[in-house]
Amino acid sequence: MGEPYPGLRPTWAEVDLAAVRHNARLLRKLAAPAALCAVVKADAYGHGIVAVARAALEGGAAWLAVALVEEGVELRDAGIGAPVLVLSEPTERAMATVVERGLTPTVYSAGGVAAASAAATAVGTVVAVHVKVDTGMHRVGADAAEVVSIVRAVDAAPRLHFAALWSHLAVADETDAEARAFTDGQLRLLADSRAALAALGLDPPMVHLANSAGAIAFPGARLDMIRCGISLYGVVPTPALAPLLSADPALSVDGAVTGEERELLRPVLSLKSKVSLVRSLDAGERPSYGRRIALEKRSVVATVPIGYADGVPRRYGAAGGTVLIGGRRCPLAGTVTMDQIVVDCGADAEVSVGDEVVLIGRQGRGSLTVQDWADVLGTIGNEVLTEIGSRVPRVLVDNGGSDEEEKR
Ligand SMILES: *Cc1c(COP(=O)(O)O)cnc(C)c1O
Repeated sequence: MGEPYPGLRPTWAEVDLAAVRHNARLLRKLAAPAALCAVVKADAYGHGIVAVARAALEGGAAWLAVALVEEGVELRDAGIGAPVLVLSEPTERAMATVVERGLTPTVYSAGGVAAASAAATAVGTVVAVHVKVDTGMHRVGADAAEVVSIVRAVDAAPRLHFAALWSHLAVADETDAEARAFTDGQLRLLADSRAALAALGLDPPMVHLANSAGAIAFPGARLDMIRCGISLYGVVPTPALAPLLSADPALSVDGAVTGEERELLRPVLSLKSKVSLVRSLDAGERPSYGRRIALEKRSVVATVPIGYADGVPRRYGAAGGTVLIGGRRCPLAGTVTMDQIVVDCGADAEVSVGDEVVLIGRQGRGSLTVQDWADVLGTIGNEVLTEIGSRVPRVLVDNGGSDEEEKR
């Protein structure tokens, strides 16, 4: 009783739904009058899709977006009725499910249009589709030259409704002149596609382009809707964008979310565990597999029951990763193993079995952020979050105390 973790192993991730609501409100305000689409693919970047989707909608998101049809089905099974965009063209086999469950498919091929049309006819309903054009990302989407014919096919299908034109940015998180020019070019290509359609009387009711980085760094890319994932989870896509966010005029209108000491985006996830064993080891001892690192001096070493199967990459220690124990950053004392790590707490550390260990989050005066992990590992926060394993229970919390004034 009274333990903060639900399982038998004291390792867990706390997901703060008040922070999700706060971040959604802030992003909505950034984008207004554009709508906010909360990107909840990959189990809401590892946070738990249903709870996060509900909190994002409460915070003002009008849309949800998923990568897999199955993810959309999970939302519908939970009773969530908000519009759900599937970000890639569903397979022909998946299209019936998309239509039956009221999901919004992206289409960008003649085959995709035909499959959506056939499914809509079979179910006997009108299906809104979003047509995606490739403006330079070169992952999915119709070539600019094909867009008109795709939209014409949608328009000609009696049970399909052309509801939006959209695209995706490739380098919105990069701030050098070359990358910015590329993003500006993507904006222009999307505008050209829109104009070509409008000239044929096929003006898209809605146009959307920006991911988190695009929404923060390119106000002109906000258009009718922004699709935010990583920022919804309280992580600025790259640190260089943080000053842009705090300086954005859209957020300083009435001061409701720009209090001086307040973080603009609040971190949502904390990753925690507890010390399972403590021992004192002599200088020269080499804990863990491979015996890679020798202790420089006699030290207190703590074992913590979390490993690479839980999302702490095997190279985290060698790369310079730390964890918080007693509010201090402590380095790992050797290679991360599948289920456990060993931590060098220092010569005079007072550490006991059961002490809380924070891998991501705050502890006393210490903090370790998702960005800290990304920096150590040479990756981005999106990967850090989605790597947290399914055997780490997610504990929903609601640290809503401080956002009272925003609930007006
Ligand atoms: C994942 C994804 C997003 C969200 O990206 P973030 O950088 O996490 O905000 C938006 N649009 C598309 C097409 C995506 O695949």
